[in-house]
Amino acid sequence: MLLCQNITKSYDTFDVLKGVNLNVNKGDFLGIMGPSGSGKTTLLNLIATIDQPTSGAIVINNKKPHTFSSELLAHFRRRELGMVFQDFNLVPTLTIEENILLPLTLDGVKLKEMRMKLHAIAKELGIKEILKKRISEVSGGQAQRAAIARAVIHKPKLLLADEPTGNLDSKSSKDVMRLLKEMNEVHGITIILVTHDAKDASYCNNVAFMRDGQLDDIMPNTTNQKQFYQNIIQKLSALEGSTDEF
Ligand code: ADP
Ligand code: MG
Repeated sequence: MLLCQNITKSYDTFDVLKGVNLNVNKGDFLGIMGPSGSGKTTLLNLIATIDQPTSGAIVINNKKPHTFSSELLAHFRRRELGMVFQDFNLVPTLTIEENILLPLTLDGVKLKEMRMKLHAIAKELGIKEILKKRISEVSGGQAQRAAIARAVIHKPKLLLADEPTGNLDSKSSKDVMRLLKEMNEVHGITIILVTHDAKDASYCNNVAFMRDGQLDDIMPNTTNQKQFYQNIIQKLSALEGSTDEF
């Protein structure tokens, strides 16, 4: 589904990514953990086609979007990708409903179809009551659920989430993680989640550890969530022992 081959990203003389290889299977829920500044957001933005790698190839769904024209790329991004950010990235002047429908509006989807999709996703994410409100009138947890609705309303192949619980309390974080898990399990959406929270990572099927611009091992979840959480904590503290970065 996603293949990153020897990806590098450099700014002037600073090498942020130093040869990242990553293979993500269809249906996977992959977590990426690592200390601040290790290159997680940079990698995610490259996969999101927001940014271009300095060298290396990225293949998504057998396509190489980084070679596309800007028009084709915008289309690819809208159809096949979904993104969720730490600060929600919703448009404050629009209502929640208008925000969620934005990608479909841009794609010229018929009004009746938009209504149906909106109703279904709002129900599933528990945000039916706030559709007419603006961001300033809802809680952080509600705003993030709306952002997830916007990211998945077109049923993307790949959902990318960068610290989606970073601005949320623990109850809302749990809600958001459960919903992401549901999107993965029920709708088969492949997810890559960047997080520094071991609890969040414990919802994933696999967790990759990033350090200083390189991906370390990938830890598969072969046990229950509680045990997996313990394994992640242990791995993080082992990594902390081997460097001063954590
Ligand atoms: P993370 O998400 O793991 O915290 P980032 O990918 O945001 O890390 O950043 C990794 C490193 O790359 C940081 O040292 C950051 O300062 C640097 N960096 C990110 N974007 C730029 C940029 N546009 N220009 C220069 N340096 C950058
Ligand atoms: Mg980051």
